[in-house]
Amino acid sequence: MRCDEPQRPMRRDPRAERNLRRCRTNEAESSTEACSRRRDPRLERDRRRQRPSIQLSSSGIQALLSDPASLSPLRSRHTARRGDPGSTLSPSLATRPSQPEILRIEAPSCWILVVPDAPSGALTSHDRDAIAAARLLADNKNGGVIALAPAAAADYGAIGIDRLVQLPDVHTEPAFRLATLEAILAEYAPAHIILPDTPLGGGHLGRLIATRQSLAIAPGVIRISGGELVRLADGGRIEQTLPAAPVILVAPESADPKPSARREARVLPIPALSEVDETIEDCGLLPVDPYSVPLQEADFIISAGNGVSDWESFSELAKVLNAAVAGTRAVCDANYLPRHRQVGASGTLVNPRCYLSFGISGAPQHLQGIARCERVIAVNTDLHADMIKRADLAIIADAQTVMPSLLALLRKQR
Ligand SMILES: Cc1cc2nc3c(=O)[nH]c(=O)nc-3n(C[C@H](O)[C@H](O)[C@H](O)COP(=O)(O)OP(=O)(O)OC[C@H]3O[C@@H](n4cnc5c(N)ncnc54)[C@H](O)[C@@H]3O)c2cc1C
Repeated sequence: MRCDEPQRPMRRDPRAERNLRRCRTNEAESSTEACSRRRDPRLERDRRRQRPSIQLSSSGIQALLSDPASLSPLRSRHTARRGDPGSTLSPSLATRPSQPEILRIEAPSCWILVVPDAPSGALTSHDRDAIAAARLLADNKNGGVIALAPAAAADYGAIGIDRLVQLPDVHTEPAFRLATLEAILAEYAPAHIILPDTPLGGGHLGRLIATRQSLAIAPGVIRISGGELVRLADGGRIEQTLPAAPVILVAPESADPKPSARREARVLPIPALSEVDETIEDCGLLPVDPYSVPLQEADFIISAGNGVSDWESFSELAKVLNAAVAGTRAVCDANYLPRHRQVGASGTLVNPRCYLSFGISGAPQHLQGIARCERVIAVNTDLHADMIKRADLAIIADAQTVMPSLLALLRKQR
């Protein structure tokens, strides 16, 4: 067409128009529902629990590494209110002017005892699930909930605790924890004891107490429904419903912690202990080989993607942080890591309290593998990477710069 010709209106191609409309709709969908088309209920729930991503300089990572739970949206300082000891109210609501309503229970039909792990001083999400399960069971039986836990781990009144027996310290000796638990059993005769089914925490303590006291135990409970327990049987193929056992070990996400009326969280004295078995000693955490810890059991994972080229710093960082090593399929394909360290849909599904990732894009197959991680930290040069969207803490920087800086910082502190 020559420039001096009068311009005719262009003909509109209906197919092109339709495609354009579709593209726009897809764009809008993908920006609201990042990275997954299928809605995975666990992902959804984790996302609801997440705080928005925070972008931080590499020095800011330090706080999270020392206490990954410190970003917990539910964690707050212990402000449990003590009830009026002279109160004679039977399950009833008592209000004070300008104070939130506190549900006080004086004479419940039974007590449910919950023993969270609180391994680093704060409640884990699994602990909160166990507390929610205890509340469910107690409400079903018109009972009350007693927690045996470190005092500063949570605002217990806000999460449904009627009574609290405070453990003096985070690193309470297992023998002392066991003796306290037995003393509570003798003093308050709870109808049920609920613990998170963790290999080194509640799972161990629950089995120990069940054996010592000859109590029936229900491990791996996935749901509490109408006062009954549901757990997987026959290799996970069927759900089995059984009456509530005296000792109940709950799986993660067995109950949904929901906000409800504030409870009293009245502090009870530790009953007199009969005898502490001094033969059990807590040696704290032992250093592990980062390449041999099974990924399913790891509590802290450091993971590499294609954006990592300084493998020496990565390996060294894993040792210093005492974290298990993992990676994406891309790095396993390239033989930087053995196949059994691959996280994702065709690798291992992991559920550590902290997942520290370097140079990982966040492909849907990888994100499926980390859906149940409690806290995710992502280091990536690309602000728009899906891994950054998934992260609770994002560091937009070169992995090869962050890793040595972090190492230097950690070494200076130790
Ligand atoms: C059927 C199937 C199953 C799969 N299963 C899995 C699985 O189980 N697990 C899995 O992980 N993948 C799986 N994948 C592969 C997956 O789709 C992705 O290809 C893979 O996860 C990408 O790995 P990556 O993030 O390491 O690499 P890339 O996609 O190449 O991403 C590299 C990232 O590093 C960042 N980066 C680059 N340089 C730097 C730097 N200097 N510092 C910091 N960041 C940097 C980039 O911005 C980018 O985000 C599967 C694929 C298929 C088809």
